[in-house]
Amino acid sequence: MKLPYAEPYRIKMIEEIRQSSREERVAWLKDADYNLFNLKSSQVYIDLLTDSGTGAMSDSQWGAMMTGDESYAGSRSFQALYDTVNKITGFPYLLPTHQGRAAENVLFSVLVKDGDVIPGNSHFDTTKGHIEFRKAHAVDCTIDEAFDIENDHPFKGNIDLEKLEAIYKEYPKEQIPFCLITITCNTSGGQPVSLENIKAVKSLSDHYGIPIYFDSARYAENAYFIKTREAGQADRTIKEICKEIFSYGEGMTMSSKKDGLVNIGGFIALRNEEVFQKASNFTIIYEGFITYGGLAGRDMNALAVGLDEATEFDYLHSRISQVEYLGNKLIEYGIPVQKPIGGHAVFVDALKFLPNVPRAEYPAQTLGLELYKEAGIRGVEIGTLLADRDPETRENRYPKLELLRLAIPRRTYTNNHMDYIAAGLKNVFDRREDIKKGYNITWEPAILRHFTVKLEEAK
Ligand SMILES: *Cc1c(COP(=O)(O)O)cnc(C)c1O
Repeated sequence: MKLPYAEPYRIKMIEEIRQSSREERVAWLKDADYNLFNLKSSQVYIDLLTDSGTGAMSDSQWGAMMTGDESYAGSRSFQALYDTVNKITGFPYLLPTHQGRAAENVLFSVLVKDGDVIPGNSHFDTTKGHIEFRKAHAVDCTIDEAFDIENDHPFKGNIDLEKLEAIYKEYPKEQIPFCLITITCNTSGGQPVSLENIKAVKSLSDHYGIPIYFDSARYAENAYFIKTREAGQADRTIKEICKEIFSYGEGMTMSSKKDGLVNIGGFIALRNEEVFQKASNFTIIYEGFITYGGLAGRDMNALAVGLDEATEFDYLHSRISQVEYLGNKLIEYGIPVQKPIGGHAVFVDALKFLPNVPRAEYPAQTLGLELYKEAGIRGVEIGTLLADRDPETRENRYPKLELLRLAIPRRTYTNNHMDYIAAGLKNVFDRREDIKKGYNITWEPAILRHFTVKLEEAK
C-alpha cells in the first residue's frame, strides 16, 4: 500500500494541556466578554486562535539560541540571519524588527502617505491598519473565485489583473507607492498566489512604473503550493521557488512568527539602497539599532535556522497535510469549509453553518463561541468583527464571507487533536438549527476592534 505521510521529526519535549468542563467554560466566556482573545490560555484545551508564534522550535533552533551573540551592533547572529535571508530571498538589505506589523510600520513610514492607494490581494488586518492609520487606502484586487468557498481554484490568493489595472488607470503613479502581494493570502483563507500570477502582476506593474512588495508571512507555504499545484514546478526545490518569487519584488515584510518557525520576530528585506537608508532611520526610532531591530541575538539565531527548516519540502508536506487532514474530516461530516483547504488553517463557513443567526449578530463569532463551549477549542472570527467599520461612515463593513478560522500551529498538535477538533465541531453542527441568536457589541475601540471588542448575548 501507499505509505501515508508522517512527520519528519519525533517529539523530544511535551507541554501539558488540560480539559475543562462545559460549566467552567460558560463562566469563563462571560468573564471574557465573549471575546476569545480575553481567555487565559489555561482555559483553552486546543488553541487554534492563531498559527502566529505558536509553533514548536526544533532542537537545532534551541541549540542555536545558546550561541546567540548579544552584541549591540554587528553581531554574528545578525550575520547568520542576513546570510539566510539573502540566500532564500536574494534581497541585499535586511532590517530585523520585533514582528511583522513592526516591519509594516517601518516600511510604510517610508513609502505610504496621506491619500495613497495600495492595491493588493486582501490585505492582512494590521497591514490595512497601518495603511489606514496613514490616511491611505488598501484596495482589494483578489480574484472573484476567492469569495466563492465552493470554488476549488488552486490559487485563490491570485490578483485579478483587470481590477489591478483599473486602479493603475484611475490613480496617478505618485499616489500608488506599491502593489502589495500577500503570500499566502491570509485574509482570503491561507490561499496561495501562483508564480504565473506573480509574474503577470510584475509585468503589468512594470508597465505602470509601480513596484511590488510582498507581505510574506507564509511565503514557504505558498511555495509548497506552487510546487505541488502549478504546471512545470514539481521538480524545483522550495528554495528555488522562493528565490524566484522574491526576484519579482522590491522588498518584503515578514512576520517570522509564521514561516520563520520562531515565537517572535520579523524583518524587512529590500533591494533598493535608498529605501533601506530611510527605513533604517525608522528602525532605529521604533525598533532598535539596525542589526537587531528589537530582537535578541539568540532570537535572530533561532530565526536563521527556522527559515532554513521552513523551506524544506518534507517539513512543509507534513504541515500542510495535517491541515488538509482536519479539513477533509470536516468535509466528511458535511461541515461547510472553504475549498481547497488553505495552508495554515481550515476556514468554516459560518453563514452556511449557522443560517439562523442574523448577520448583524456576528455568526462567525457565534460559531467560535459555540465551539469553545462545546470542546474547549479556541478559533478566531474572520468576519464582520475583523472587517471593522468603514473609517469614514463608521458603518459595519460586511465582508463577502463570514468565517471561523481554525489555525493550526506548526509542529505542535497531533492528528489525534485534529480528530478531537473535528468531533467538537460536528457536535455543534448536529445542533445548528437550535442556534438562533448571536451577540451584540457593548464596547469597541477605534481601530482593530476584534482584539478587544466586548460583547453580550443577543436578547
Ligand atoms: C501575521 C501577519 C502579519 C503581522 O505580523 P505580526 O508578526 O503578527 O505582527 C502581517 N501580514 C500577514 C499576512 C500576517 O499573516
